[in-house]
Amino acid sequence: MAEVTLGQGNRPASSLLDRTLSGMVPGVITTTTGQLFAMARKSSLWMLSFGLACCAIEMISTYMAHYDFDRFGVVTWPSPRQSDVMIVAGTVVKKMADPIRLLYEQMPEPKWVIAMGSCATNGGPYYRSYSVVMGVDHVIPVDVYVPGCPPRPEALLYGILKLQEKIMQDAKESGGK
Ligand code: SF4
Repeated sequence: MAEVTLGQGNRPASSLLDRTLSGMVPGVITTTTGQLFAMARKSSLWMLSFGLACCAIEMISTYMAHYDFDRFGVVTWPSPRQSDVMIVAGTVVKKMADPIRLLYEQMPEPKWVIAMGSCATNGGPYYRSYSVVMGVDHVIPVDVYVPGCPPRPEALLYGILKLQEKIMQDAKESGGK
């Protein structure tokens, strides 16, 4: 006996949006504006250029030709006014705490901070020293910690990849706002 196939009756055809969302239209992706902006931001991070101690030498070498930070859209920038990311590379002495906070507050939103090395993370070799802050997160919020004394440029590159993941993840979790 022949199989009977039910027709669709006079139901309206599915819209282009419905077909796109169900994956029926090839070559079309859908996203939110929040995720679109996050994609642009994570691919063009401008780092506020300053260094505090020996870790800064490794940070500088990451910008040079061999490691080529620019591949990730990372540009070093000599002003907080247009910078997205602060890399705290080196020992944060108590005298520098206020200038670091001021620079952070001068950066526009959205902004991110990377604590590079043991000193910026928790005081490192100067743990409980009378003159050193026990981690820059006592002064400003930190998004990514890069361990090491000093961390190699590969570790900083990995930290940037983690920050890029975090930027996209935050955009997804904020529901596209
Ligand atoms: S973590 Fe080590 S290399 Fe980096 S600033 Fe501190 S002492 Fe220097």
